[in-house]
Amino acid sequence: MTNMETGKPGYHFETYGCQMNIAESAALKLALNGRGWLETGDAENALLVVINTCSVRQTAEQRVFGRLAHYAALKKQRRLRNDPLFVLVCGCMASRLGGKLAENGADFIMGTLERAAFTRILAEIEDARGVLGGQSDKNVTQNEVARRETPPEDCLPPFSFAASHHEAGSFRAFVPIMHGCDNFCSYCVVPYTRGREVCRPPGEICAEIAALAESGAREVTLLGQNVNSYASGNADFPSLLERVARETAGTAIRRVRFLSSHPKDISRRTIEAMADNPVFCRHLHLCVQHGSNRILAAMNRRYTRERFLEIVAALHSAMPGITLSTDIMVGFPGETDDDFEEILTLMEETRFLYAFMYHYNPREGTTAFDMPGRVPPEVKSARLRRVIELQRTHTGELLRSRIGSAEEALVEGISRRNSGELLCRTERDETAVAEGPPSLIGTFAKIRLESLSGNTLRGRFLTPPWRK
Ligand code: SF4
Repeated sequence: MTNMETGKPGYHFETYGCQMNIAESAALKLALNGRGWLETGDAENALLVVINTCSVRQTAEQRVFGRLAHYAALKKQRRLRNDPLFVLVCGCMASRLGGKLAENGADFIMGTLERAAFTRILAEIEDARGVLGGQSDKNVTQNEVARRETPPEDCLPPFSFAASHHEAGSFRAFVPIMHGCDNFCSYCVVPYTRGREVCRPPGEICAEIAALAESGAREVTLLGQNVNSYASGNADFPSLLERVARETAGTAIRRVRFLSSHPKDISRRTIEAMADNPVFCRHLHLCVQHGSNRILAAMNRRYTRERFLEIVAALHSAMPGITLSTDIMVGFPGETDDDFEEILTLMEETRFLYAFMYHYNPREGTTAFDMPGRVPPEVKSARLRRVIELQRTHTGELLRSRIGSAEEALVEGISRRNSGELLCRTERDETAVAEGPPSLIGTFAKIRLESLSGNTLRGRFLTPPWRK
């Protein structure tokens, strides 16, 4: 639908999955805005709906099929009043399932490596509807524009959407430093949907961070499926971190984080680079997945439990007080009760601040899909409940131990539960709320942590001056 007042066509976005998808959606929105489109906030008033998808779990894919069914019904109604709606599906599902999405009502499908097609798709829609200078051909209907899969020659070099995805006015930004993954963990579809690792040159990354600082960013997160294996020319990940630390010194960027870290590739030099440069937050997301060496080997993770615990010890020794978070999977094929108990003991030894916990989901096309010994759903669910319960205990204990301390926190916004409170994040990735004026949003402020409610610390801002 075209906005009656502005004459601009509207778009609506649905984004599922990881930070990389969120960053890519932000970049796609900028491309749309740059062509004169307007974000509507709902599908009712949009000419185009973009669904950026995730294939990591079956439930995530099912949800997208549900959304496609919803939009198919909406399209039908709108077609009756000659008010078409186009649906573009991009992201991992588009790479993995292509034509099946078209059968379920997607008008355009754009895989993760086919981003150049975006401009062409927009031009086709603009032409068909005669918007933004497009030549409307009254005979072109939605059906004639629809159902195109992107030809492979539309591939652009990687990172065509990585740059400038920081939205104006926002103080947190995500900077993709690499795409794809070479690891082929036996349960994971990412290497098939996003392709092999491609790294962005350090100069380009730093130039983008400098631009982000100029446009108001205070915190930057470097993104990649496995940032520790970053390699571009002579630069590896620790040298990239050192360069980022040098080049952000004296700028508005006060915090740098990075996601995700694979234990097999994290090096002593990476830990040193973090420890030597306070711009790197004292928090690390280090995906362990399991505590049993037998299962780690079957997962093709290529590290042992002992190596993981060594890394944890090295991190604590280099940066006392650092917090860790992780991903944990229960119910991998062949997981016995003893294997499962090893997850719990590893959690006890590591004590993560938080964890993303899930049960194994068979994904067709992966090595694990054909492995024998599928764990019955009720066993997987019972194990997952135990992991969640233990994690809840650890989270509570770690957060409670912080009561009484004073922390510098980035004020991120207004609390969703109480509009009189502001939501803040410490460099250890703890969430805290405190009463304060909205003018503090986007600034660093000192907060005294006073109590715990659920997983949220409650605190009190210490006296101004606040620091920008
Ligand atoms: S490291 Fe393993 S789990 Fe992570 S994206 Fe690569 S293959 Fe998937």
